[in-house]
Amino acid sequence: VFIFKILFLSVLFSVQTRTQTDSTFFLKKYSDIAKQIIAAAYKDSSAWERMAYMCDTFGPRLSGSENLENAIKWLESQMLLDGMDNVRLEQVPVPHWHRGSEYCLLLSPHKANIPMLGLGGSVATPKEGITGQVLVITDFDELEKRKSEATGKIVVFNQPFYDYAQSVQYRTYGAIKAAQAGAIACLIRSVSPIGMQNPHTGMMRYNDTVLKIPAAAITAEYSAMLERMQRRGQNPIVKLYMEAETLPDAISHNVICELKGGEKADEIIAAGGHIDSWDTGTGAQDDGAACIAIWHAIKLLKELGLKPRRTIRTVLWTNEENGVMGGKKYTEIHKYEKHVLMFEFDSGTFPPSDLRFKGHDTLMKIVQSFKPLLDMVEPMKIVDGWVGVDIRYMMDLGVPGMSIDTRDQDKYFWYHHSPADTPDKINPQDINKCVAAIAIALYLYADLPVELPWQQPIAHQGTK
Ligand SMILES: [Zn+2]
Repeated sequence: VFIFKILFLSVLFSVQTRTQTDSTFFLKKYSDIAKQIIAAAYKDSSAWERMAYMCDTFGPRLSGSENLENAIKWLESQMLLDGMDNVRLEQVPVPHWHRGSEYCLLLSPHKANIPMLGLGGSVATPKEGITGQVLVITDFDELEKRKSEATGKIVVFNQPFYDYAQSVQYRTYGAIKAAQAGAIACLIRSVSPIGMQNPHTGMMRYNDTVLKIPAAAITAEYSAMLERMQRRGQNPIVKLYMEAETLPDAISHNVICELKGGEKADEIIAAGGHIDSWDTGTGAQDDGAACIAIWHAIKLLKELGLKPRRTIRTVLWTNEENGVMGGKKYTEIHKYEKHVLMFEFDSGTFPPSDLRFKGHDTLMKIVQSFKPLLDMVEPMKIVDGWVGVDIRYMMDLGVPGMSIDTRDQDKYFWYHHSPADTPDKINPQDINKCVAAIAIALYLYADLPVELPWQQPIAHQGTK
């Protein structure tokens, strides 16, 4: 704590001449550079092409899969081809969950195939599947009230989409709550603002003291239909079959390359997205395009001969979706280096709308001065807030965090974790706008003319 405070004091002193870091200063010093970055980003189609090539060629990139490792090896080869500095892969042991065959059938009052996806981490059903009457409920409160009716049934959470944070609780904790009420399986309405008979998977959890029951997502249309049937007293019967299994941990890799900085090259800005995806769709929006946008932002700076004071490192973290082992391993290996900023992009590749920042007020004030330059790409707000899953372990050590948010957040969740998350959902001009905004933000931060505090593990014992 003591050392960290001293470091912060040094920042406060060095920004005493506010004119060194206000927006007039940034505009004057960097507007030509920002224009150069934007022009170069907009005339280059390679980010979109590489995203589409990766998704089409290697397919979905679930942790533990050969697809993911093939994509990782390809990324490494492309970074070498680009002439990036310090290209390397770092080993990360990751969970290895495998979906296997699965289906969900409506047996009564009519026969139909219900589009579904088992939830990540779920156990299998017995070989003969699980057949039962359903109990459709809206939320955990209703389950609590109707607990006695749940025994021996398949509980269906028909939770409407309010926002991701609210509705995802049913995906995460539904199986635990349903099992506690005596259910034999758990179905959730897919976490998405629209249905279109498109199921959405994602991570779920068990609790070691509660029976592990199989869990899957079905479509919004079938969740609503089951509820209507129940209301009419039609007692719908459903059969669920899943072969899901958790295999021994596999080896995956974080993918790293750098743009070496100038006089403060030992100070690092680590920026990336997560290279793994779910096993459905090809992880274009989540998070392939963002990974490539970050790497291309840094590649663009290199191609323009823009060498900031500090080093900018691209890190494509593995296993964000079902374990965050890439983010944890990165912290374990690199926490002793002087990180001055962690940056993550994992919010959908649409036109950029916000630059998010989490850090000391003094730094926030500096980051707010970036606005006029970012506005040259799209009108952007500079906001305080949540910045990312993979970078949170480094941030727990005191490193500031940054991310960009994009418009069309609702649309993002149309595709998220579903078979519809494919390259056609990304507009080439949007990915270029993200490349430009990220390149500007990272360059400005990496080139700041003030002393920046950097994290030291010993300084953080007992904090946060
Ligand atoms: Zn993601």
